[in-house]
Amino acid sequence: MSAMTAHSRPWFTDSWLRGCPKFFLTLLLAHCISASVTSTPVQALLPAGFATKGLTSHWFHGPVNYKALVIAIDFAVYFFHMYLRYRQYQCYKRQTRPTAIVDLVSEEQFVRSNAYGLDNWWLSCVTSTVNQAMDFVIMYYDLLPWVWNTMGAVLTQHGGLGPEYELTYSMVYFTLFGLHEWLLMLPFGLYDTFVVEARYGFNKQSLGLYLRDLVLDTLLTSTLAAGVIAALVGVIRWAGPAFFVYAGATLTALSWIMFFLSILIEPLFNTFTPLQDGELKEQVEALANRLKFPLAKLYVVDASKHTEHSNAYVDGVFRNKRIVLYDTLVKQLDNEEICAVVGHELGHWKLNHVVKNVLISPIETFIQLYLLSFIVYNPAVYHSFGFHDTLPLVAGITIFYQLYQPVGNALGFATNILSRRDEFEADAFAVRLGYARPLRTALIKMGQKGLSNMVPDPWFSAYHHTHPSLVERLAAIEAAQVAHATATSSEGQPLLSAGSTPCH
Ligand SMILES: [Zn+2]
Repeated sequence: MSAMTAHSRPWFTDSWLRGCPKFFLTLLLAHCISASVTSTPVQALLPAGFATKGLTSHWFHGPVNYKALVIAIDFAVYFFHMYLRYRQYQCYKRQTRPTAIVDLVSEEQFVRSNAYGLDNWWLSCVTSTVNQAMDFVIMYYDLLPWVWNTMGAVLTQHGGLGPEYELTYSMVYFTLFGLHEWLLMLPFGLYDTFVVEARYGFNKQSLGLYLRDLVLDTLLTSTLAAGVIAALVGVIRWAGPAFFVYAGATLTALSWIMFFLSILIEPLFNTFTPLQDGELKEQVEALANRLKFPLAKLYVVDASKHTEHSNAYVDGVFRNKRIVLYDTLVKQLDNEEICAVVGHELGHWKLNHVVKNVLISPIETFIQLYLLSFIVYNPAVYHSFGFHDTLPLVAGITIFYQLYQPVGNALGFATNILSRRDEFEADAFAVRLGYARPLRTALIKMGQKGLSNMVPDPWFSAYHHTHPSLVERLAAIEAAQVAHATATSSEGQPLLSAGSTPCH
């Protein structure tokens, strides 16, 4: 849900190609899992005499200690992330500026951005360690069935609702875990906003505003999540093994509805004001016209009430699209630089990065649900986590998502690779519009103001970052500029020959 709030949107939004690798990787992994489990060497390792019902009976022929497997996967993922953090830590410890950024940041800015990075680094280490410890306690001490049984006793005694009310049980159960996660993370969120972000002058929120947004966001998210989980449980019960077809269709429809609704939800968190008449408005509108972008609204959003970080994005559906500029962006950059950033955003639109992602990403949902069918119909999974009398589907779903972590992370990694490619493409698009110089200066200013790590560890960056580092982007902009100049001179006209650059 947080992605729906303007202040937390990632800078330069989605890309269509993210869906493609997810699809093929998920398919590949699904295939590998089924192939490896049915292969003779693996079967030989599994004790005989184990039977399951539903789809899994074809694949699993022996008892697997799922709890041990999930805990092992959980720790493997945790240690891998910690290793990446360790690599990134070496970057923050650098005392002198790497050659690549000597011309981009002063020594003082370099020290400051490292200190900011290190503060965030510590926070993420502590947060993930606490999370990891809590995950372990919950799984190891069989707290999942304990919560289910305690909740069942309370609902039966005080609400008159027996276990036959499975959907209600599922929603309450899911909400209880959401609440636990929320409370666990609350102090870290507060520390991040009011200590780390405030220390570097980024936080502009009062505690009241922070809590108001948090409560609103949590209410919206948990209501939606409880509805989705109830729908999923209902569809699994109703449709049987073919549930993933129906559930996939339902979740896809829901995600598209949310995509349409996000424009209605955003004003709950921020105020959107039409950009006032003047030179900037004329320039952005001219740029939109030049690219035949169906610009219905041009807004400035009051991001500065939350943060000093700057951003811009393009959204909306069909012929009713809008460009949204953070007020921080308008304050930090000159008109030409803002046009360069908008040019990059319009590049994402022109190159169909967003639309194709929206259309293709449901495929991952379908395959994820197909993999889920291997788990929810397998009683051994529930037994291994301490469920003996009842096998609540909602618990099977939560256990599945722990098991799914490495797959999800691998997909996230592939997604990030393609996302960075999209960013390069959108930058090159802005270069072809004639914005090479202002795009460079805009990115440098935003990097400096945002105290971003300009030369991150390559492994850490490849795994976590949706955007290339500043140094990589500047090099690619230069290369795109040369390529464009060559193409233009050989063809005798610009690639995007739609008149003069409007921001000049
Ligand atoms: Zn972008």
